[in-house]
Amino acid sequence: MTLSLGIDFGTSGARGVVIDQQGGIVSAMRHDWHIGTINWVKCWTEALWSLLAQIPEVFRQEIGTIAINGTSSTILLTDDTGKPVDAPLLYNDSRGAMALERLSRIVPANHTVLSATSSLAKLLWMQELPSFVNARYLLHQADWLGFLLHGKLGISDYHNALKLGYDVEKLQYPEWLEQLQIPLNLPQVFPPGIPIGELLPQIAAEFGFKAHCLVVAGTTDSIAAFLASGAKLPGEAVTSLGSTLVLKLLSRHRIEDARYGIYSHRLGNLWLTGGASNTGGAVLKHFFSDLELVRLSTKIDPTQASMLDYYPLLKPGDRFPINDPQLLPKLEPRPDQPHDFLHGLLESMAKIESRGYELLHNLGADPLTHIYTAGGGAANSTWTTIRQRYLKVPILLSKNTEAAYGTALLAMGKINLERTTEDTEKTEE
Ligand code: ADP
Repeated sequence: MTLSLGIDFGTSGARGVVIDQQGGIVSAMRHDWHIGTINWVKCWTEALWSLLAQIPEVFRQEIGTIAINGTSSTILLTDDTGKPVDAPLLYNDSRGAMALERLSRIVPANHTVLSATSSLAKLLWMQELPSFVNARYLLHQADWLGFLLHGKLGISDYHNALKLGYDVEKLQYPEWLEQLQIPLNLPQVFPPGIPIGELLPQIAAEFGFKAHCLVVAGTTDSIAAFLASGAKLPGEAVTSLGSTLVLKLLSRHRIEDARYGIYSHRLGNLWLTGGASNTGGAVLKHFFSDLELVRLSTKIDPTQASMLDYYPLLKPGDRFPINDPQLLPKLEPRPDQPHDFLHGLLESMAKIESRGYELLHNLGADPLTHIYTAGGGAANSTWTTIRQRYLKVPILLSKNTEAAYGTALLAMGKINLERTTEDTEKTEE
């Protein structure tokens, strides 16, 4: 029996999943963040050891490969022994905003690094810290956690490195980056899932892992969640009906359009493209409890179109599929019956979803063939029927939605990132 371990460092905590060669889950672990955590390095380290310790011993001995995902654009600086020289900057930290003007003079227009939360903007902010003189390496969260396991410094993957400016098409850092003269080691970038090194012998011995257990290059949490869905061919998509509406579509063609916040991650020789709208479950939650959503949904006839035409938002502004920072929420007229109101909301969100996929297609992405659904709204069959009227392709439940599971598939080598052009052409037939 050879097992694989996927570890997810997400926004609310760390999760681990051990799978067998058929993709079956044999063990799952969790370690939640404490509210008000200040020392993230200590917290992550404790979480990593806690997850390893939670795996039943019989399975630990059978694990052959391990992969880790982290939140995108969470970065830290370390000295040349891998010790952090200051606090990490988390994914949603926007202090990099101060660097945007400087960056915009160097970076090609509309590049993904031109965002206050990008790794590169954060790095420029960190360059002003007194502790920067001690820094030798810039690492992403997943890179540093991987280092704790395999002991190699300065290694990353092309999912984490995208928002550092790494050119995922040419597989090299771009020339314009040199103009920034960053005086430290940027990570060497590998394809996600590629073996990086063996688990350090002292860790293998302490936790009872087998010798020669391999740690492979990681990924980001949202890509890991996509991988968990089971989508793998061009035209397959995952809609996440969580607090916001997030679309991800596999395509043979790379598309980028900063106006709509659209960019593409590399996935072997395919591209994972997508966009996110501010509409979604957060608006439903504002008006209804989860129980009410279940109860009222049963009163809706989803085969009939609602005549209510809303743009459900909690505050003005959306980017995808309508790029308008001033776009006003449209939630009127409000019918007397709450289930009629809910019908209008679900119907309007289905239209926004459909318009999103249409926009991706118009920008050059492959046409939709299947949609897997994840997030809190995925279980709502009334909504699925409404969505079906607009989307006109099979809508399936994601096989799994846990990023840790997607990362375990990556560790197992189940995600074929090295597909040949021939393979991809075959899938078109
Ligand atoms: P997050 O993006 O916060 O991780 P989740 O995937 O956990 O979100 O989904 C939570 C959202 O799902 C909430 O905003 C809630 O309103 C919505 N939701 C929960 N149950 C239902 C339901 N039966 N139908 C539609 N939406 C639902």
